[in-house]
Amino acid sequence: MDFFPLPCASGPLFRLRGDDFNLYYAPGYLLRAAPDLVPLVEENIAVSHPDSNVPEVDILLACSSRAKREWNDLLERPYQPQSLHLYLNRRCQLACQYCFSDLPNRTDFSEVSIDTVRAGANLAAKNCAEKNLPLTVVFHGGGEPLLSWRLIEALQPELRMAADAYGIPLFRYIATNGVMTEERAHWLARSVDLVGISMDGPPDLQSVQRPFWGSGGDATSIILRTARILRENGVPVHVRVTLTNASALRQAEICRYLCENVFPRVVGVEPVYLGGRADSSMLIRNENLDGLIESFFEARAEARRYGAVWQVSGARLSEIHGPYCNIFRQVLQLVPGDVASACFKDVSAKQTCERGMAIGRFNEDLRLDDERVNVLRAAFSRPKECDACFLAYHCAYNCPNACLLKNERAPDVLCQMLKRIFSRRLIELGCDLARLPRPIAGTFVAQD
Ligand code: SF4
Ligand code: SF4
Repeated sequence: MDFFPLPCASGPLFRLRGDDFNLYYAPGYLLRAAPDLVPLVEENIAVSHPDSNVPEVDILLACSSRAKREWNDLLERPYQPQSLHLYLNRRCQLACQYCFSDLPNRTDFSEVSIDTVRAGANLAAKNCAEKNLPLTVVFHGGGEPLLSWRLIEALQPELRMAADAYGIPLFRYIATNGVMTEERAHWLARSVDLVGISMDGPPDLQSVQRPFWGSGGDATSIILRTARILRENGVPVHVRVTLTNASALRQAEICRYLCENVFPRVVGVEPVYLGGRADSSMLIRNENLDGLIESFFEARAEARRYGAVWQVSGARLSEIHGPYCNIFRQVLQLVPGDVASACFKDVSAKQTCERGMAIGRFNEDLRLDDERVNVLRAAFSRPKECDACFLAYHCAYNCPNACLLKNERAPDVLCQMLKRIFSRRLIELGCDLARLPRPIAGTFVAQD
């Protein structure tokens, strides 16, 4: 069963025809109608009257128009970053088999500078204040951010000052591999508001896919100690799991392991990206897709039993979004070498410049290159084949496996996976709506 576009609507609207019911989907809203009420629903959709006598259709149409409006806004609004992402360094203690940032073998001590971060924080805080948003700062890794903990410590007063200057709260998130001393884990618990730990599951997966750099071996016991310290200090933890061909069918087991040992609130799973160190044997193969989908839903049910959320982020039904480009997400990403990049994959000034993704630079002051931003924005177009897809208004369109700003194409395993996961979710939600005592029923769709 598939969703097909309903061309009579003014914005995106899709229909799935089943034997016992019809589903209608506008981004973020699902409506279920019994077969005998289909003419009434479609008549109201066609007339598109704001006060039809079917309130659920009114909401559906409002969501459809809103999606179109927000999509245009996403493409056209000026680049005024509201979130600061800091790629602090290019070092790591692990040698993950699939690392996208492809760190140098030689130790590289370059870090992003305090002056650049200060300027970036002030710029983002000003924009956040205008939108009534908190200042969000993400400590990220082209390498492992905790290896720059002294720099994080030195940045804290600067970030706090920027937020205070505009009277807005500060929210700090760190994406870490979880490998640190006990003392550092206590420091971390005092230093950020949310921690994302990358961990691929039980020790047999973790030790092979994410071994120590040089000596190899398993970091599990250290990561579990970090998670315990964070938990004891009340710091929420999310986990990111990279799915490879070796782990895609083991999601329920991975989920149980993480829920019983790390206690995350949210687990985000992502199929391994093309590029960096990943070789083709790690990529999800088409013949594994059925198993991956089943495994995903088993893990999702398992996570619920533990009070956690199991999700994939390539399509987020609760928001209108495109690929991960910083220029569309209103993110200011600063990398060592004090350059701002348009692409989340860039981890150094050299790489950013070579890929043509530099959109700003610090030289006594932080200057954004509006002309370059406009050129890169103009290079984006949604793939034609996505126009008829029910995920067209919230999908990363195979990014980063294919770069949308460079007109690249990639095998569409990611696309197939997202379509199948989310159509099954919508059908499940449609079945839940059948329990309501109404022949036409609707619901907003949450991300999980
Ligand atoms: S990439 Fe695939 S899932 Fe995403 S919008 Fe396009 S067709 Fe749909
Ligand atoms: S579309 Fe290209 S530039 Fe944008 S985030 Fe993806 S890989 Fe980077």
